[in-house]
Amino acid sequence: MKSHSGTIFDIKRFAVHDGPGIRTTIFFKGCPLNCWWCHNPESQNLEPEPILRPSSEDIEIIGKTITLSELMEEIRKDIIFYDESGGGITISGGEPLMQPEFLNAILKQCKKEKISTTVDTTGFSSLAVIKLLVGKLDLYLYDLKFINDEKHRKYTGVSNKSILKNLQYLDSEKESVIIRIPIIPNVTDTKSNLQDLGTFISTNLQTIKNVNILPYNRLGEGKYPRLNRPYKFANQLKTPSDKELNNIKNELETYGLDVQVGG
Ligand code: SF4
Repeated sequence: MKSHSGTIFDIKRFAVHDGPGIRTTIFFKGCPLNCWWCHNPESQNLEPEPILRPSSEDIEIIGKTITLSELMEEIRKDIIFYDESGGGITISGGEPLMQPEFLNAILKQCKKEKISTTVDTTGFSSLAVIKLLVGKLDLYLYDLKFINDEKHRKYTGVSNKSILKNLQYLDSEKESVIIRIPIIPNVTDTKSNLQDLGTFISTNLQTIKNVNILPYNRLGEGKYPRLNRPYKFANQLKTPSDKELNNIKNELETYGLDVQVGG
């Protein structure tokens, strides 16, 4: 194994919402987006950074460098559970595509060891990085927020052009992709945005039809003051109700999509 390394901020074992079966989720540090609702703000900077511990004045450093062999040791601890449940590993973040060499090295090693792999991505990267991944992953969990680029820039800080283009490329390569739409009340769940999303997916993608809708939650809000950063949606948003989520599911299903709440 070559001496690859990368920056991560967490490893979660026995995860059950990051793809099929029981999984180990590896959270890469660094994200090129800056979503107003981000519930992992500690993931955004690529470098390790200080964060106050909850309800105390103590500071901890979030993020660390890990080598490929250290990470593989952690991953191998649960192989028996992956095998029994149809699980594996999920590389999440942050944005995994920001550290493509480390990501690629993990995928290669897992393939050698027959460990199933999923990536949870915004899709924001060059096409060259996406091409590097084709054929190496069992599943992509691909976030889609807005089709309207102005809205995308406003709420995430970046254009969605490469995100849409890369998604179409994965579709043309027949990669296995589940689209994930974060449901942010009055932001991503507007009638026009749902229509745009339904139309884009149903007309521009041939093989990708699976969509998970992920309800907004406020779990990350408390981390912003601990990082000394403002939370733009402070006290403004509620978690959508089951009824609201079902209405959104029904709306998206009118476009012939296979929609699930959660994922
Ligand atoms: S893409 Fe995800 S990790 Fe990055 S800022 Fe948005 S919510 Fe946070």
